[in-house]
Amino acid sequence: MRQAVLKSPRVIALEERPVPQPRAGEVLLRVRAALTCGTDLKTYRRGHPRLPAGPFGHECAGDVVAVGAGVEGVEPGGAVMLVPTAPCGQCAACRAGAENHCAHLFEDIVLGAYADYLLISPRVAARHLLPKSSHLTYIEAAFLEPLACVLHGWRRLALPAPSTVAVVGLGSIGLLQILTGRAMGHRMAAVGRRRERLRLAERLGAAPVEIEQGEVTAQVTAALGAPPDAVIEATGTAHIWERAPHWVRAGGRVLLFGGLAGGSRITFDAERLHYGEIDLISAFHYTPRDVADASAWLRDRRIDVRPIISDIRPLDDIVGVFAELDRGGPVKVALMPEAAEWC
Ligand SMILES: [Zn+2]
Ligand SMILES: [Zn+2]
Repeated sequence: MRQAVLKSPRVIALEERPVPQPRAGEVLLRVRAALTCGTDLKTYRRGHPRLPAGPFGHECAGDVVAVGAGVEGVEPGGAVMLVPTAPCGQCAACRAGAENHCAHLFEDIVLGAYADYLLISPRVAARHLLPKSSHLTYIEAAFLEPLACVLHGWRRLALPAPSTVAVVGLGSIGLLQILTGRAMGHRMAAVGRRRERLRLAERLGAAPVEIEQGEVTAQVTAALGAPPDAVIEATGTAHIWERAPHWVRAGGRVLLFGGLAGGSRITFDAERLHYGEIDLISAFHYTPRDVADASAWLRDRRIDVRPIISDIRPLDDIVGVFAELDRGGPVKVALMPEAAEWC
């Protein structure tokens, strides 16, 4: 089988490896679609504080081909989707319902989705391997993980609907935030730089605001009628984190969604935070509840994620695809072990 391996920043090798056999509790998946993601791009560029180099990729859907001893409720032949981690269920964070802060979250992580086959770890197989509805393509089903993260952010934001929300950063997560906000009944503005991304955001239902066309607050206010109730930061850049509190209304909330590199330091305007009563909220990862919600959202087609896919390419193209992502070309690419078409 082919397995894409991230060797070091900007070095991916597509290796030939033996197909693994599932041991007790494990499930072997034939990957049908795997998606690129901003987290993968960050890891590709500079490494990641939580994700090691090695087998690459974490968003996928596929077919079960074999199950290890003791696996229940999963049968060979079943089409499934998954998220790459599952909480232990035992530690203090898990018992408190904050499973995204589980002390053991990354011990059993499933990495290596850019491959023909993927071995699912026992904990993920037991908790976060879900059946794929037959009306969903594998590409749509592979959105389970990013959508769970986005829904976790909205839960943290806890905005009454309808509110007004500006999303800054129009990568795949920013666009998913726009779709989600719209589906929840909020009025959305999309703040970005590149014309084609702004046009796509507009198609998805957000008022476009070009960040370099002048003062952002004035533009967002013009687009939404007033300064927004919330701003969602989805660029993962320090200077946007610092500016976002100035774009929201007094008493508003800022969701800091795009993570920065380990060791980053940022500076906030104390007067703005204090006298403006700005709530800074961060969001990390997802809980089982977010995964269940994301699964239901996809199944019920509460949002149509298909416009976020900019390209469908064969797995063999992975080195070139990441070079294109690095240059800021496509939003999100589906890498297909078999035919490079919607499935
Ligand atoms: Zn992801
Ligand atoms: Zn735990």
